[in-house]
Amino acid sequence: MNSTIHSSEDDLVFLDEPDNEDTSVASRPVQTWRIMIIDDDPDVHSATTFALGSLEIQHRALSFLHAYSAAEAREILQKESDIAIILLDVVMEQEDAGLQLVSHIRKTLGLTDVRIILRTGQPGYAPEIDAIRDYDINDYKTKSELTRTKLYTAVTSAIRSYEQICAISASRRGLEMIIHASTELMALQGMQNFAAGVLVQITGLLGLDTEGFVCARHILAEMPEAGEDLYVIATTTSYANGLNRTLGQLGQVTASDIVVRSLNARQSVFEPEITALYFNNVAQKDFTLFLNTGLHLNEMDKRLLGVFCGNVSVGLDNVMLTSRLHNYAFYDPLTGLANRLKLLQTLNETLLTSLKNRSALSLIDIDHFAETNDALGHQFGDQLLYSVAQRLVTSFGEHCQLARVGSDTFALLGEENMVCPDKILTLFNSPFDVDQQEVQLSATIGLIKLDDYDGDGSEALKDTNIALKRAKMNRRGGYEYFTRDMGVEIRERVLLMHALRAAFEHEKLFLVFQPQIDMRDGRVLGAEALLRWKTEDGRFIPPDQFIPIAEYSGLIVDIGEWVLRTACFELVHLRSLGYTNFQMAINVSQAQFSHPLFMQSLNKALADTQAPPNFVELEITESMAMKDPELLIKTLHQIKQLGISVSIDDFGTGFSSLSHLQKLDVDKLKIDRAFVNEIQKNSNEGSIAKMIVQLGKNLGLSIIAEGVESEMQANTLLSYDCHMAQGYLYSRPLTRDDLHTWLANR
Ligand code: C2E
Ligand code: CA
Ligand code: CA
Repeated sequence: MNSTIHSSEDDLVFLDEPDNEDTSVASRPVQTWRIMIIDDDPDVHSATTFALGSLEIQHRALSFLHAYSAAEAREILQKESDIAIILLDVVMEQEDAGLQLVSHIRKTLGLTDVRIILRTGQPGYAPEIDAIRDYDINDYKTKSELTRTKLYTAVTSAIRSYEQICAISASRRGLEMIIHASTELMALQGMQNFAAGVLVQITGLLGLDTEGFVCARHILAEMPEAGEDLYVIATTTSYANGLNRTLGQLGQVTASDIVVRSLNARQSVFEPEITALYFNNVAQKDFTLFLNTGLHLNEMDKRLLGVFCGNVSVGLDNVMLTSRLHNYAFYDPLTGLANRLKLLQTLNETLLTSLKNRSALSLIDIDHFAETNDALGHQFGDQLLYSVAQRLVTSFGEHCQLARVGSDTFALLGEENMVCPDKILTLFNSPFDVDQQEVQLSATIGLIKLDDYDGDGSEALKDTNIALKRAKMNRRGGYEYFTRDMGVEIRERVLLMHALRAAFEHEKLFLVFQPQIDMRDGRVLGAEALLRWKTEDGRFIPPDQFIPIAEYSGLIVDIGEWVLRTACFELVHLRSLGYTNFQMAINVSQAQFSHPLFMQSLNKALADTQAPPNFVELEITESMAMKDPELLIKTLHQIKQLGISVSIDDFGTGFSSLSHLQKLDVDKLKIDRAFVNEIQKNSNEGSIAKMIVQLGKNLGLSIIAEGVESEMQANTLLSYDCHMAQGYLYSRPLTRDDLHTWLANR
């Protein structure tokens, strides 16, 4: 625009024109280009509207806003928007009023889209070139230059430029919204949340109250039951009743049609009033977003939606990735069951609700899985675990939370009536099919009842594990409920366990022997071997403390075997010293007794030491007799066949039933020292000790009293016709050498 040609026919014609412009927004037809004329000369206003009044640019008419001073212009600009062009007189109230107004428009009001054409009467007032650049001034014309034709040309090109600028900033705003939308969506977990988020963002993007729904083609992790059908996975309110149903069930023929077309063509479909946006993603979980826009989308909208779909597909990939990571974090890839972390979540939730009151947790451990794995290979082992998981799911999946918490350990959390040992153990009655092979498995179970449990989830899991270890110690294929005393001072127990293991390995354990005598004549019958542990710093740890730890950790098996051998060895040694009628009583703990190799180690101890079995006696506890009667009866029988005798230790504390006791092939009852301790005066006619003696006699068993400390107790026991005793009255437990001296002095 540098023409300086001035011709009369191009002269601006100033005529009074009807005021055809309308400054009110409400009644303004949407599709006009708004031109603002700012000039203190009313004639310029009239001439301009006259010159441009009939002009249509891109099928849009022009409308005009009029300001006669810079101040008035500011007022109008404050209120009005969407102005395409400002025709501005440079010189108004002051010489630089026009330029100041430009600065106000660009900088203060931040109106960057509007095109500005400066006009001035005098060429001398041409603004600096810098100002033209800084204020994004479109054109600069002297009024004399603005002939009708020139004005046409200037306004037309300004409008084109305005339109482009608008498009750019609209798409920039759109892109900003897309970026915002994508980051918002990225934070959403799971496909359904994501789809719902897309709906929200897209209605925001279009600036419309759009209704719609999202439909997915493929099976989704969250909805495995969905099959191959097209499913509605997210909706706005007006389609809410179709949520989580098939597209068919939605009952919207037009919508279904466009959605199916979009998914089949793998592209978005635009129709008047409705749109199906296709989202393609690499995880092969394509989905289509149906939008009831209610109006025609323009090219700009379509382009933006295209960008949005592309962006969202990338986002969707991320969501898929996140949910895969989520799956790895919470699910066991081999069995598809929850993992330990997920179980802990559920467990903690359960403990916080009233569900807690009727819930139980159990750990199910496959017996001898490590051996199977080693023997048949890891692949076989994996398949085996998978079939176990499947069987668990079939029986419990609907009602309980299942998890795989260790290589061969499963967890089951649910209501007490479901999570019970019988129900679980029957699952292992029939063999498992792996590779057309039948494998018979057994499992051992630890359980915990969660009512009035006051720890958190991870503590409950640990305690269940304690119960499981107990159960494993007792007998494979059995179960054990956690009791509070199992859990005390776990940390101390662990420390003690390590110390005990070290002490045993460094031969810091030794036996002492407490004589047993016949109270009638003081004759020595034998001794009970008792285990001692002297620590590095010379302290004695009482067996009441370390024996349970040895049992709990399984160390008791090795320790017990060593006790057996050492006691037998001492028996043989005593015999060589001439004490040939001496009987050695040896304590055997539950875990040791029920170990499959117990009989083997007993035989080996006898064979290796050449100890005569009829001078060996095993002490088992009454509570052991209660645990597993069948195994006990069987083992007792084998022991008796060797010629070894058996006594029941701590008798009276375990409340075994008489009928039960009758079935056991034992030789002796040992009255617990608590009952001996009760004997304080001669007058104890109906004491428990007396009853035990009578009971033993009825069953044909011999009776020994332990913990006899006074003459009075000895006499009382004798009066009950119990004549065998062991206690401080006669001797404390003695070391090997002290025993020899003690015996020699008798
Ligand atoms: P227990 O088998 O009932 O052993 C008898 C306990 O009573 C011994 O305690 C013994 O020192 C104590 N005692 C003996 N006479 C008297 C007395 O007159 N008064 C009092 N107050 N106590 C007396 P100790 O040696 O501390 O053993 C405690 C428990 O540890 C044993 O009870 C037994 O259950 C277990 N234990 C000891 N050695 C072994 C072992 O080699 N193997 C197994 N499995 N358990 C053992
Ligand atoms: Ca004992
Ligand atoms: Ca005892």
